[in-house]
Amino acid sequence: MTDAVDVDAADAEHFEAVVVGAGPGGAAAAAVLANNGVETLVLERGVEAGSKNVSGGLIYAERSAPYTIDDLFPDFREEASERPVTRNYMDNIAGDRVHTVDLKDVHEHDTLWCDSVLRRPMDSWLADRVHELTAETGGGVLTGVRVNGLLREDGEIVGVTCDELDPIRADVVVAADGVNSELARAAGLMDWEEPNEWFQGVKAVVDVEPDVIADRFDVAEDEGVARLFGGDLFDGVRGGGFLYTNRDSLSIGTVFHLDSLAAERAEPHELLDNLLTHPHLGQWLPDEYSEREYSAKLVPDSKKVAHGSPFRDRLLLVGDAAGQMQAQGPIIKGMNHAVTAGGLAAEAYIEARSRNAPYSAGDLYADKLRDEGVMDKLRPTRYELSRRVSESDAVSGALDGLVRSSVGRLGLRAAGGLTGRVFNSPFALGMLPDTHTSYVTVPTVLAEELGEPATAENDATPPTLEERIGELTYDTDVGNPHIELVDESYEASGTAVTACPVSARDFGGGCYREETVRTDGSEERVVSLDTQPCVECGTCAIVADTEWTHPRGGKGVEFDQG
Ligand SMILES: Cc1cc2nc3c(=O)[nH]c(=O)nc-3n(C[C@H](O)[C@H](O)[C@H](O)COP(=O)(O)OP(=O)(O)OC[C@H]3O[C@@H](n4cnc5c(N)ncnc54)[C@H](O)[C@@H]3O)c2cc1C
Ligand code: SF4
Repeated sequence: MTDAVDVDAADAEHFEAVVVGAGPGGAAAAAVLANNGVETLVLERGVEAGSKNVSGGLIYAERSAPYTIDDLFPDFREEASERPVTRNYMDNIAGDRVHTVDLKDVHEHDTLWCDSVLRRPMDSWLADRVHELTAETGGGVLTGVRVNGLLREDGEIVGVTCDELDPIRADVVVAADGVNSELARAAGLMDWEEPNEWFQGVKAVVDVEPDVIADRFDVAEDEGVARLFGGDLFDGVRGGGFLYTNRDSLSIGTVFHLDSLAAERAEPHELLDNLLTHPHLGQWLPDEYSEREYSAKLVPDSKKVAHGSPFRDRLLLVGDAAGQMQAQGPIIKGMNHAVTAGGLAAEAYIEARSRNAPYSAGDLYADKLRDEGVMDKLRPTRYELSRRVSESDAVSGALDGLVRSSVGRLGLRAAGGLTGRVFNSPFALGMLPDTHTSYVTVPTVLAEELGEPATAENDATPPTLEERIGELTYDTDVGNPHIELVDESYEASGTAVTACPVSARDFGGGCYREETVRTDGSEERVVSLDTQPCVECGTCAIVADTEWTHPRGGKGVEFDQG
């Protein structure tokens, strides 16, 4: 990334608004801007919108939100989503025992509707609508363009620079460039330092005929199921799994706290396979297991990183770029918040412009995030207050011991009926500590004490990592690697060998490999990097010592599903 370019900004091409990224946040911002007659240019690095994106993914329309995706794009549900999700469960697992909690209340809390989506079809559909709207203003959507820096004049941000185009000046720049936002970092608003502020999500899309989905999940065409999984099946790594029904496929994946994944030196593809091959999933998987796509991406933890003032000069951050992804136990909501934030950022600019102070949109935007209650959802004060105690080593260690003890087990058995209340309470979930007890011990002990043995057989044989990489589409930027390994010592960068979702200790391929270099009788453990199979998840930007950028426009991996 070019952090800041002071070119002769006066000579640069000008658009009133530039939106970077055509995910849900960028699409929402661009739609509101264009609907208000603002000349809007959207720049997207993928060959097509959605080709770089991954979600679980359930998109919610919240009653309390000022913007929902179908407010802005009325045909969205009919044309761009997969299935309405009408039932939601949490399966706590220990060995082959399973204890299920119905998440109906939390699923329906503040919910107008909820649909499963696949990002390539969803985002490309949105981009077509956005292009129609923005073209009317003299702008449009340009794909295959990577924004590589901020254009500055006397140190102040006045636009963007790109790999593929000349610099562009704008009255407002909306950075909707996702979790690995290079713009947020260049502006000094976000960093990629602490693994405990991020999750890593990994996902497989599995082929299943619609009639098999109907039969195995007992759903009609306009119904769908979401299931979440926690307990001892992820080798002690904090996090969980998910399964969502699509039209003719299942999205099955995992989301783990990155610090835990790194500390346990766990391999993401193996944890995903633990889920895919668990006997409990045998009842839903087709007789012939066939994986359509393997993908991965980082996810910000809004409780820790959602920025209270996500702007600098004319640059406004929305969605994952601003850390606006809410993960509290079974609540995983990012796309809806990106939509809301995109709408509010656009609204702020339109208001600022009407006051003849277009460059003051940032303050208005931050006020709107607070006044509309978005910040309260993303960073609940009760979590901030309680975590100092609940996440301290002493308290969490003692609690873990208690839950595992015979007294704790007796308590959980006695309170069995209450567990559903806790799992379904947004208030309680808003202060759930990010500890081993919450994510591993409680689900495991619940299953041990209250669960029933899984009776189905699961014959699924997921592809190897090599086969998964082999199935992906890449347009490699030969001779121009987008990630540079700054420190190749194992100490500095070795975690990436296991945490990278397309690398593994015993795999000769992948991005990161461990090697032993012998010189003059001494041995040194080092790592090497090959960016060709990279799925651009962003993990090694945090767990290894790298200079990390996205590939140039249109280059790198291309997801079909997302
Ligand atoms: C495994 C997994 C499961 C998830 N499950 C859910 C879920 O069930 N529900 C939910 O709501 N959320 C879920 N999320 C989170 C959700 O995907 C994000 O919160 C959401 O996509 C954020 O939207 P966005 O518009 O901010 O960014 P993105 O959707 O990431 O879009 C960013 C866009 O910017 C483009 N871009 C990036 N950099 C540049 C650049 N320099 N120049 C030009 N273009 C650029 C990208 O190509 C991309 O199109 C999940 C995430 C993962 C990884
Ligand atoms: S090389 Fe880095 S960004 Fe690429 S897939 Fe591996 S961890 Fe993710």
